[in-house]
Amino acid sequence: MTKHELLKRLPHHCEVKLKGCLGQSFLTPAHRKNRVEYKRTPELLWDYSQVITACVKCHEWIDAHKDKKEKIFKRLRRYYK
Ligand SMILES: [Zn+2]
Repeated sequence: MTKHELLKRLPHHCEVKLKGCLGQSFLTPAHRKNRVEYKRTPELLWDYSQVITACVKCHEWIDAHKDKKEKIFKRLRRYYK
């Protein structure tokens, strides 16, 4: 999938919904892994399994809590390995 195709498919609201979530404002695509980890598998960079819609608040939080981030991805993308 291209970035453009994926962004069209992703929800237009924050999927993470932590305390202090901004809901439908300041949305960003949040990746499951660090950018460098997609170097060998560039086809996964914009794969639905690897990206969620997150508001900037939730995005910051999950980037600072990597272990929780994977749990959130497992919950939100459980049918997409
Ligand atoms: Zn949020």
